[in-house]
Amino acid sequence: MNGEQRREQPAVRVTADTSRCVSSGQCAVTAPSVFDQDEAGQVVVLAAEPVGRAAEQAREAAARCPVSALRLHPAR
Ligand code: SF4
Repeated sequence: MNGEQRREQPAVRVTADTSRCVSSGQCAVTAPSVFDQDEAGQVVVLAAEPVGRAAEQAREAAARCPVSALRLHPAR
């Protein structure tokens, strides 16, 4: 008997360097389930280990960030 529930494993782990963020908002627009902005416009990571389409959007957002504040690492 195998009662283990299969879940989609995170492909990436997302981190944001808020000291670099210039509040452009590209990330929140590109990957709204992964990134948001606080009242000052600074990036907030909503989902540190996105899966599926959200992971793809996170990669795209990292590529679009004008100051390279977003990093994607292999999921643990
Ligand atoms: S795209 Fe980059 S600079 Fe713009 S809000 Fe997101 S982390 Fe900050």
